Amino acid sequence: MTKKTVKDIDVSGKKVLVRCDFNVPQDENLNITDNRRIKGALETIKYLIEHNAKVILCSHLGRPKGEVNNKYSLKPVAEELSKLLEKEVKLASDIIGESAKNLTANMQNGDIVLLENVRFDAREEKNDEEFSKSLASLAEIYVNDAFGTAHRAHSSTAGVASYLPAVSGFLIEKEIKFLGDALQNPERPFVAILGGSKVSDKIAVIDSLLEKVDKLLIGGGMAFTFFKAQGYNIGKSICEVDKLDLANAILEKAKQKNVELVLPSDVHIAKAFSNDAEDKIVATNAIPDEWQGLDIGNNTIESFKTILQDAKTVMWNGPLGVFEFEKYANGTREVAKILSNLDATTIIGGGDSAAAVEQMGLADNMTHISTGGGASLEYLEGKVLPGIECLQNV
Ligand code: AMP
Repeated sequence: MTKKTVKDIDVSGKKVLVRCDFNVPQDENLNITDNRRIKGALETIKYLIEHNAKVILCSHLGRPKGEVNNKYSLKPVAEELSKLLEKEVKLASDIIGESAKNLTANMQNGDIVLLENVRFDAREEKNDEEFSKSLASLAEIYVNDAFGTAHRAHSSTAGVASYLPAVSGFLIEKEIKFLGDALQNPERPFVAILGGSKVSDKIAVIDSLLEKVDKLLIGGGMAFTFFKAQGYNIGKSICEVDKLDLANAILEKAKQKNVELVLPSDVHIAKAFSNDAEDKIVATNAIPDEWQGLDIGNNTIESFKTILQDAKTVMWNGPLGVFEFEKYANGTREVAKILSNLDATTIIGGGDSAAAVEQMGLADNMTHISTGGGASLEYLEGKVLPGIECLQNV
């Protein structure tokens, strides 16, 4: 279902409430350490200003748990936004209270007001009807541009849409385009790479992807549950022993669906969960007792590379090793490099793999980096995301 965007609705002279994702990282002095999420919101905001809207922004920041807490104030965001737009951004000291009402009452076209952290009110995360109504009453149109929270049915991400015409901003439009196209109409071969710590977290994604992909490459901690299920000795590697049957069922489903499911042929193991412990690379079936697998080995990287060379669509979610340790970041790094050189549509799920690609300066070489970790996983699982579902269809 195609969703309407800001371009499909007349915003001129109207008050437009935009749900952004301004959940930026900060240091202990509350300085913003990475402003990419704010920069990401600029396209939609600028479009609205250029089209004479009165722009009312809202977002959450951190987890204030329904209470006002200055540590999570959006003040630094208002300042940064103002700098980037070279325009005044007024910060309301509340969300739906006197300050918000006063500041939004007399806006001129092109004015910008940022409401205070929506999670300062416990009703936000409860998707409370009265709270949603009051938030909606500040504006005439609702725009959702926060993909990172689109899998949550909160007042500012979904509830308000019951009371206002609701459309998507450019960020959500892009997410739907790339994630949606890849799932519904991928150019083939379509290869998915999954990593991360647990099979249990990704089971629904694996299940859904097995219906769509031609090949599925698995690395990271979750690979060891598959190895154990196949009867290999995995030493002290991370493993979900209650998921062995599930792992075998996944292997069986892959066979039935004619999907080539590729597990690592070698692993980088260590004597302890540490960057400094003794380490070596061994074949998957030769992990000694007391050792643990922390990354994929070089042969695995090579075989992943061979498979990826022919891919036309690649979707990647989850690190292939304990990339927080320099020594075991190699697999994640090399796969990022391989993807950056492919002549294919490359889509990186949010979270750790997106962070790795960005840290390496390879973000511009990818087709799309999702702005939502949890949301992109749920989208890949085929779930309906409340923050998208609530928007008007074209
Ligand atoms: P997830 O949140 O499920 O995407 O998993 C990310 C985490 O998986 C990262 O913190 C990695 O350190 C961890 N991880 C990846 N590979 C392994 C491994 N072989 N053993 C233990 N943890 C791993």
